[in-house]
Amino acid sequence: MSACCSGRMLAAAAPAPCRRQQRSGAAAAAAAADVVAASRPRNPLLQAGSRRQRQCSSRRSVGTRVLALDAAFPFDREAQLRRQHSQQSRLKIGIVGFGTFGQFLARRMVQAGHEVIATSRSPYHDVAAAMGVKYFTDADDFCEEHPEVVILASSILSLESVLARLPVQRLKRSTLFVDVLSVKEFPKRLLLRELPPEVDILCTHPMFGPDSGKGAWTGLNMQYEQVRIAADPERQRRADAFLQFFEREGCNMVEMSCEEHDQLAASTQFITHTVGRMLGAMQLQATPIDTKGFQSLLSLVDNTANDSFDLYYGLFMYNQNATEQLDRLEKAFDEVKARLLQQLHDKVRQQIFYGDSNQPEPRLMLTDGSSGANGSSSSSSEAGGAAAAQPLASSAAAPPSAGAAAAAVEPAGSGNGHKPFKNFLTMSSTDSP
Ligand code: NAP
Repeated sequence: MSACCSGRMLAAAAPAPCRRQQRSGAAAAAAAADVVAASRPRNPLLQAGSRRQRQCSSRRSVGTRVLALDAAFPFDREAQLRRQHSQQSRLKIGIVGFGTFGQFLARRMVQAGHEVIATSRSPYHDVAAAMGVKYFTDADDFCEEHPEVVILASSILSLESVLARLPVQRLKRSTLFVDVLSVKEFPKRLLLRELPPEVDILCTHPMFGPDSGKGAWTGLNMQYEQVRIAADPERQRRADAFLQFFEREGCNMVEMSCEEHDQLAASTQFITHTVGRMLGAMQLQATPIDTKGFQSLLSLVDNTANDSFDLYYGLFMYNQNATEQLDRLEKAFDEVKARLLQQLHDKVRQQIFYGDSNQPEPRLMLTDGSSGANGSSSSSSEAGGAAAAQPLASSAAAPPSAGAAAAAVEPAGSGNGHKPFKNFLTMSSTDSP
């Protein structure tokens, strides 16, 4: 706060005679109300500058020293409380596993005012330094820094070995361990089994990553389970402070058991990644006529393709519910495909047996892509036993011969220059009546 608006200075200056102070009590009260109202901004940090200006100028022009004193007091107090609170919630956080996600978290935590240190398998000194993180290749050195919170952000597949190599005995006994793995039951069991009973355990899953959370985190889901936090108020405060970081970023905090998380995540997150990877393998491309739906598919590919395959494999291997969901996905695809093909079979059979004057006249396509002239009567295929074109609609009474080994159906008029549905529908001798 600038000296000209310091409450203490103004209090000392207040008794000095001032011509403006001789105004009527009512006018002074009204002016006081104005200044006090103006001193209650919704966001004190954003408006502090303009308010300070307002107070200084009003003090000069209308002699409102007393009023400025009134206004300054709540401001001072607010700032004091804010400072006190941020000091209390400032944490020393150590990140183990400084890959994509570890860095993503670290960046935001530094921005939020936390002290962040990190260690990982690979040397990340430069990346870490650039974001204000102190980096240690040596895990002993890292632990001897005594971070209050240790975040485990290594791959799901490597967590067990990473934890086994971490010299936990060099940490403070009250350390809070937090995991951010995308599966939850596995780390919960592992941490309960491997960590000494003195340390606290908080299992979390921020349901977003560097792609989906590259902007604001407002409304993004953050699952957590306080697996083991000692009753000590200081430890409770620390766990709260850690969760508050996500809360302040705007996350939707969801307290949920790790087991329930895995059940739900298998049918949501794992399926999302699986479909994203399948579509990615198809190498879909944007076109000038994309629909909104297709654009969503492309962004799904974007959101999942950048994650490591280790992460995806971890979602499958370390979630007991994933196999069942994969089976369901496969079954659903088969059902949809069967329904499509079944309609096609029904239509062809309709034409074979009864003809259908409402439908475009189909014709047989040879599997080599050539076709018989539409509507023209073909030469007999039975004689030579070779596949031959034959108009189906006009041949209801004379269905294709058993010798027409492999044929595909294409609506009339689509033959020229258009790729035939080659081998799409294969008619074997068993299809013949
Ligand atoms: P990841 O491939 O799952 O993990 C990469 C990290 O694991 C790196 O720090 C890497 O260390 C470390 N690592 C891999 N194999 C290792 C081994 N054999 N020994 C020691 N360290 C090993 O990719 P990620 O996206 O960074 O994810 C990290 C964790 O965050 C995962 O548990 C994931 O489930 C979770 N998570 C990720 C997201 C996301 O959107 N990406 C979201 C929520 C939670 P080096 O880099 O030093 O080699």
